[in-house]
Amino acid sequence: MLALKVYEDSLCPKCGGPISECTDPANEGKYKTDPPTRCHKTTAQIVATEDWDQRKNTGALLLSTRLVFSG
Ligand SMILES: [Zn+2]
Repeated sequence: MLALKVYEDSLCPKCGGPISECTDPANEGKYKTDPPTRCHKTTAQIVATEDWDQRKNTGALLLSTRLVFSG
């Protein structure tokens, strides 16, 4: 467990990468962001939450989203 803690402490809380790399001034301006990929599961959860917007406290809803195969 100590090794896991040491590993987790070496990661950046913002990007999840090695903190020694992403905070290195030598790397400023060297990162490139690829086009986004949509998470269809999260999209479905957001849409479902919007459908429940007429109710209060939607942040407390526990949504269950599953992959459905058709055909
Ligand atoms: Zn970072």
